[in-house]
Amino acid sequence: MVPAWLIRLENPIPIPALRSVNTYVIAGGGCAAVVDPGMGEASARRVEGELRARGLELELVVATHFHVDHSTAAAWLNARLAMGRRDWERVTLMVDTWPEAAERMSELFEAHGMPREEASQVASRHPALSRVAWFERLVDAHRRDVLLLDDGSALDACGRRLAVIHVPGHTPGHVALAAGGLVLVGDLVLEGITPNVPALEWPSDPLADYLSSLRRLLELRPGLLLPGHRGPVTRPAERIRQLIAHHERRLREAESIVRELGEATA
Ligand SMILES: [Zn+2]
Repeated sequence: MVPAWLIRLENPIPIPALRSVNTYVIAGGGCAAVVDPGMGEASARRVEGELRARGLELELVVATHFHVDHSTAAAWLNARLAMGRRDWERVTLMVDTWPEAAERMSELFEAHGMPREEASQVASRHPALSRVAWFERLVDAHRRDVLLLDDGSALDACGRRLAVIHVPGHTPGHVALAAGGLVLVGDLVLEGITPNVPALEWPSDPLADYLSSLRRLLELRPGLLLPGHRGPVTRPAERIRQLIAHHERRLREAESIVRELGEATA
């Protein structure tokens, strides 16, 4: 089902709700390109060990999106990094404007109804913001030579050509990588859990972006989705339609609550 040139590594991460991230290795002729290397130095060392055991030389690291559990191992890997343009811009903005970036996030949460006490702890308790040093290291390591991925471009990795699809919603610069009927989808589509769709700035409409991304993926009629967590999605159309229906139902619920109360926060 998964082609021979693609290896899936279940990479443990210290986020109990997720347990592991799927790291994909595109391999060919002794060369390896790693998609979503994982979280921090521990993941990087694990990936290096797996490549060494298979006699593969790391050539390229790709992050489907900037989230801490997918991208930050790249800070400890010695190869060029490729990432969606808007996600790279977000990460560099966060690093370059720290700690104001954390304050902006706290203010956003508070403006949308989070109690001040909790909103003020965002920088110290959020799984990504509390690890800002990892993102600093990521930006330092790759700023000079990062490969920014745009929609419609092609990514060449160890003799394979993958089509880059910009699929915003889970993050603003999330990308999916397609080869034949197979799509590496990151956290765009997961089996058994619904990917979160966070508002990272205001005004913005990440849910509208997310639903368009799902519809676009559906139009591609993929045969197999390889996601960032849990197992492969073997019936893509069915799972994508479930996610669209789920969000449409929740949106109607939220609308009726707002209508009833006249005014409501998140
Ligand atoms: Zn994610």
